[in-house]
Amino acid sequence: MAVGPTTEPITAPVAPAVPAEAPSGPLALPTEHPREAPRLTPVELAPGKALYTAVLPGVMQVPADLLLAMGRKSSLWPMTFGLACCAIEMIATYMSHYDLDRFGIVPWPSPRQSDVMIVAGTVTKKMAPAVKLLYEQMPNPKWVISMGACATNGGPYSRYDRVLQGVDNVVPVDIYVPGCPPRPEALLDGILALQDLIMEERKSVGR
Ligand code: SF4
Repeated sequence: MAVGPTTEPITAPVAPAVPAEAPSGPLALPTEHPREAPRLTPVELAPGKALYTAVLPGVMQVPADLLLAMGRKSSLWPMTFGLACCAIEMIATYMSHYDLDRFGIVPWPSPRQSDVMIVAGTVTKKMAPAVKLLYEQMPNPKWVISMGACATNGGPYSRYDRVLQGVDNVVPVDIYVPGCPPRPEALLDGILALQDLIMEERKSVGR
């Protein structure tokens, strides 16, 4: 039986339609997991910006010395010792009415872990070597607050030969709190001034 030509027109095979939005190649996204798409989308880096600012938007960049200074100023541990009547005001400052704990300030009964010495009271020449020894037993960095007129310049005992005319004769003083005695608010103000000082001197090295 002879076979003749077909009457149906011959057409070229049509390729399957590809969605215009679907990426192709190695960066193709798994369309079966649309929630994964934002995570897998390559990050567009703006020129001049660090990678983490694009990957983790909202992250702050601060110098390490600023973080260290903020940690130091927010965790001051004053060594607990008092020399005379100013110590009563210092003790009152630690009590609940003034609540130094809210500033991270915790009184500590050892110089080995303390970083602030509050010299509260009259420093006699007999006591001065002990004050100096306690200061030297404190680790660096450390600061000294002279509380009251006696510790600052002898106060009412400025003509007494047995009284040291200023504790800065034996240890370096960072903050002076005036008064005889200073009220707890004054000591609180001195501690806040010390916190400001710590933030200012954060770039200094080798205290
Ligand atoms: S400054 Fe005044 S209150 Fe303080 S220890 Fe001296 S005498 Fe006492």
